[in-house]
Amino acid sequence: MARLVIKIGSNILADKKSGLKIKRIETISDDISRICALGNEVLIVSSGAITAGMKRLGFVEKPSEVRLKQASAAVGQSILMSAYEKSFNRHNRKIAQVLLTREDLSNRKRYINAKNTLLTLLSFNVIPVINENDTVSTEEIKFGDNDQLAALVAGTVEADWLIILSDVDGLYTSDPTSNADAELIREVTEITPQIESIAGASRSGVGTGGMYSKILAAKKALAYGIKVNIISGKKSGVLKRLISGKHEGTAFLPTAKSINSRKGWIAFATRPKGALILDDGAIKALVKSGKSLLPSGIKEVQGEFEIGEAVRCLDTKGIKIAKGIVNYSSQDISKIKGKKSHLIEQILGFKYADEVIHRDNLVILDIK
Ligand code: GLU
Repeated sequence: MARLVIKIGSNILADKKSGLKIKRIETISDDISRICALGNEVLIVSSGAITAGMKRLGFVEKPSEVRLKQASAAVGQSILMSAYEKSFNRHNRKIAQVLLTREDLSNRKRYINAKNTLLTLLSFNVIPVINENDTVSTEEIKFGDNDQLAALVAGTVEADWLIILSDVDGLYTSDPTSNADAELIREVTEITPQIESIAGASRSGVGTGGMYSKILAAKKALAYGIKVNIISGKKSGVLKRLISGKHEGTAFLPTAKSINSRKGWIAFATRPKGALILDDGAIKALVKSGKSLLPSGIKEVQGEFEIGEAVRCLDTKGIKIAKGIVNYSSQDISKIKGKKSHLIEQILGFKYADEVIHRDNLVILDIK
C-alpha cells in the first residue's frame, strides 16, 4: 500500500484542435481505479484546463493575455472535472476538486489547512483532483507549472511516490523527437547538472512544463525522500504495471538523506521576502556544524520582512546557502547584525530568541 501523487500533463489530456481527450481520461481513470482497488491512495494533479477551455471559447492558439488564459482555465476546469467525474463514476470512485495557488502553500496556516483537507479526503477514499487555481493566479503567485505543484503536493501529504505522466516515455539521453539515437534512461540515482542539462533541451506543445521542469520537480520530491517515475501517459495499464513492480519509464531513486515535511515546506513552498548576507564563519557553522543562525554572522539585510517570514541566506557573492524562517523583522535584524546575542535585548529593548533563524527553521539546500 502506498500513497501516490499522479501528475497528468496537458499534452496527454488535451490538444488545441480537439480540446479535452475524453477517451484518454477514461483510460487513465481505469488504470488509477485499478491501483486504488489494490489499496493504494491516489491524489491526481491534473493540467488541461486551459487547453480544454480554449477550444470551448474558440481560441485556435493559446492566448498570450493572462485574463484570456484565466477565462479559458475557468471554462476548461469544469469540462475537465466533469470528464473525471463521469470516468471515475464508472468505477464507483469518488473524486474532489481542489484548486490551489502558490500563496496557499506558502502560508503556513493555509498550507496546514490544505494538508488536512487532502488527508481527510483520502480518509474517505476520495481521489483529490488538484490543479492550480489559474483564475486567480497571476504570474508572480504562480507555481510555474503543475510539475512543481505536484512535487509540493507530494511533499505536503508525505506521499511515497510521485508519478509524472508525460507524452514521452521518460528521460532520454537527448531529444527523442529530433535524435534517432536517443536512449531512454532507465534509472537516475542522482540529479546531476548533466541530467539537468539533458532535460534542458525540452520540447512541449500545449503544456507549460517540458522535461526540465519535470526534473526540477523530481529533485524536490527526491529531497523529501519520495521516489519519482516519469512515464508515458499514453500507454494503457502503465500505472498498474508500474505499481506491480514492472519497470516503466525513468525511475528516480531517493537517497537515504531526506528532509522532513516542515523543512520541505520551508525549502520549496515558502516565498522568500528578503535575504541575509552571511560571513564565512556563519556559513561554516550552518553548513558544516548544523548550527542556528546568530546575529553575529549577518553582514547585511536585504528586503523588508516581518517575523515568521521566509528569507534566503546568501554568501557575500550572492550564492544561495540556505533558506529559513526568521525570528526577527528586517528592521530589527539591521540593528543587531554583527552583534553578539547577549546584546540583543540591550539594542532592541526585547529579545525573542538568541538565534535569528533557529536550526529547526533552516534548510541548507541548493535546490531552486
Ligand atoms: N494549470 C494549467 C491547466 O490546467 C496547466 C499548467 C501546466 O501545464 O503545468 O491548464
